[in-house]
Amino acid sequence: MKHVNKKIKVAFPHMGTIYVAWEMALKTMGIEPYIPPYTSKKTLSLGTKNSPEAICLPYKLILGNFIEAIEGGADYVSMITSPGICRLGEYGKNIEQVLKELGYKANYIELSLYDGFRGMIDYLVRLSGSKNYFKMFNAIYLGIRTVFAVDELQSFLSYHRARETNKGDSEKAFNKAIKLIRQAKNAKELSKALKQGLSLISNVEIDKEKDVLHVDLTGEIYIVNDEFSNQNMERELGAMGVQVRRSLTISSFLKDAIIPKIFKKGETHLERAYRLAKPYLMRDIGGDALECISDVMYAKERNIDGLIHVSPFTCMPEIMSQNIFPKMREDVNLPILTLIMDEQTGKAGYVTRLEAFVDLMKRKKMKSQIKNKPNNTENKTAQKV
Ligand code: SF4
Repeated sequence: MKHVNKKIKVAFPHMGTIYVAWEMALKTMGIEPYIPPYTSKKTLSLGTKNSPEAICLPYKLILGNFIEAIEGGADYVSMITSPGICRLGEYGKNIEQVLKELGYKANYIELSLYDGFRGMIDYLVRLSGSKNYFKMFNAIYLGIRTVFAVDELQSFLSYHRARETNKGDSEKAFNKAIKLIRQAKNAKELSKALKQGLSLISNVEIDKEKDVLHVDLTGEIYIVNDEFSNQNMERELGAMGVQVRRSLTISSFLKDAIIPKIFKKGETHLERAYRLAKPYLMRDIGGDALECISDVMYAKERNIDGLIHVSPFTCMPEIMSQNIFPKMREDVNLPILTLIMDEQTGKAGYVTRLEAFVDLMKRKKMKSQIKNKPNNTENKTAQKV
């Protein structure tokens, strides 16, 4: 690719807070990141209008993000690709073609994550024209560290949001923490920003004694991590006193896809998936299905109150998971809610389903607490017998 002296503006899809890491890596390389407007109904409508009807929701949102970015002045649009059994492998070529057909002049560039560090270096060389490997390693390192920092803040947010005294305080603190992370320019500043961010969230007034429910959120990774496409489910659940743990995070994905083994501690998500998904699913069938099946067993192992599975309409691997869940539900006695998201999903009906699910988990928890009380007469009789 030819590089002129003008600073190029590079855009990327939103997918929740992943833009923070893209921004960090590109800025470190001296490239100007272009952050498209956060995904909105307009983004979705732009994407839907220019997509095949049956394609999955993330494709439509990514395309919408790109159209808005190009119209806003981005010179390059870049996205992560990977080979795979599902449609993800086709996303890139299709999007590139559609943008051309629509007459947009911006360049399209892919980052192949499954090529590990080599793929990232290759991406940065193509984008910057630079051969400064020290700078590139630093950019990748900071980008990855940012992903981990944001995920840590996210999980801290979930703990506090379920217990906060004033609704919305934890999220305000979280947003301030993200601002601090975005201002960091090197590893030292990033660590400091994370520390300050965690402290901002922990200063929020909470009721530590509150009896909260614990839910694992699993499903297709884009929908799990993107508030727009999952209709900010974690906020809704937090307001109902539910602490949500994302089973699929960008950091867990990076651990499996690119971080070398010597830098990893303990079992990764994918390793656990191969261990726990059997006998329900014996091999990887694409997308995140294997991880989702194993997440049910992992939730059961930790005695979690329930599991929510979110997936885009027509997502092939997740249709398979949803067909396995009924049998798992019987075997593990765990409340599982499956939600399919698309551009038609209405907020009210979906919140009602969440409320009903929370009620179900509460009743189940209460029953088991009564059953396990030491002065329970049934227990006493059982002990005597
Ligand atoms: S995992 Fe599902 S939503 Fe994601 S690209 Fe594949 S088919 Fe589409």
